[in-house]
Amino acid sequence: MPDVRVTVKGLRWWRRGHPWIYRDDLVKAPREGAGDIVRVLGPAGEFLGQYFYNPGSKIALRLVCTEERPVDRTWWMTRLQAAIAYRARVVQESTAYRVLSSEADGFPGLIVDRYGDVLVLQCTALGMAQQLPIIVDLLKELLQPMAIVARHDMAVRALEGLPQETALLHGERPGPVEIREGEARFLVDVWTGQKTGWYLDQRENRLAAARYARGRVLDAFAYQGGFTCHVARQAEQVIALDSSVAALAALTENATRNGLTNVTTLQANAFDALKEMDRREERFDLIILDPPAFAKSRQDLAGARRGYKDLNLRALKMLTPGGHLITCSCSYNLDEATFLEILREAAADARRTARVVEVRTQAQDHPILLALPESHYLKCVVLEVVE
Ligand code: SAH
Repeated sequence: MPDVRVTVKGLRWWRRGHPWIYRDDLVKAPREGAGDIVRVLGPAGEFLGQYFYNPGSKIALRLVCTEERPVDRTWWMTRLQAAIAYRARVVQESTAYRVLSSEADGFPGLIVDRYGDVLVLQCTALGMAQQLPIIVDLLKELLQPMAIVARHDMAVRALEGLPQETALLHGERPGPVEIREGEARFLVDVWTGQKTGWYLDQRENRLAAARYARGRVLDAFAYQGGFTCHVARQAEQVIALDSSVAALAALTENATRNGLTNVTTLQANAFDALKEMDRREERFDLIILDPPAFAKSRQDLAGARRGYKDLNLRALKMLTPGGHLITCSCSYNLDEATFLEILREAAADARRTARVVEVRTQAQDHPILLALPESHYLKCVVLEVVE
């Protein structure tokens, strides 16, 4: 396999520390070597690092390491041990967490989530797909899971020429797994649930939400009750809203599992439902907004801005004085400053004075790599309406 040489522009990405180099920034994109680890050189022939190579993908190079040493089982073992040790420091209150978070853990294109004894992985890079047998073996050795499931049913895999499927890589096909998150328990279906089964990235925000829970609460975009079950312990009444019938059925089961009797579900489109509730002058002491990503790409930004503003405006209008809004955006195309700007516009239009009580992000087991802005995708802002 020949070395791959990058242009001056490619070198600029490297200098910024960004772990990707685009196909357009290669001097030449050799056809052979797809999925291999290649040596990458700068325009003057200087060694830049070892990268996963995929000439079939727009992201042609993904940084594996900047040293020249062989990338073998021992090398991956060291990285995996470091990732596990990091989780032992940052995750205390849960039996479900992210073990490997792709580039942020030095495993480009791989996430591994742990649900008790079950591991669920998602691989989105061809180079990583070739290393998977070694890594699955290491996961077995270091974590001794009962089962390992590959949730490879993701559309983005097509961009790397990878097939879409859900497959069992080790053990027996697991049924729903009970996880503990703080004081709450949830049943997670790793085979069919959203993402790898649960929105693990919101765990710390769900635990934080309990601090603001009181009176009447609306959890819009509730999914299977992640926020609902935490806030319902403190609140008088929680309305859990979602457009998905299946999600709400699972939510009801989770509420029962936690002994909660003050949760009502509402199957509706949140945009319509909030508008209607606002028209009826309903009031809440806490509203949680955790919608899916509206800005999947830069082209969606204008529409996304309108969507976020509309939802937040309606929510702010319905809050009692002293009430709280916990509002999230998981669109990485929309940065934190822009999100705060949208919230400011929403509050102004709603004629409410609001204070920013907390600016939060994804849970620490989903680390943010400073040089990879794409890895900082989740924004969670807590506002308090003053009057
Ligand atoms: N807060 C949840 C995760 C929410 S995921 C947790 O912490 O676990 C987003 C949810 O929004 C999904 O369950 C999806 O079914 C729902 N959803 C998407 N579009 C919607 C809409 N227009 N109205 C209501 N719910 C919607």
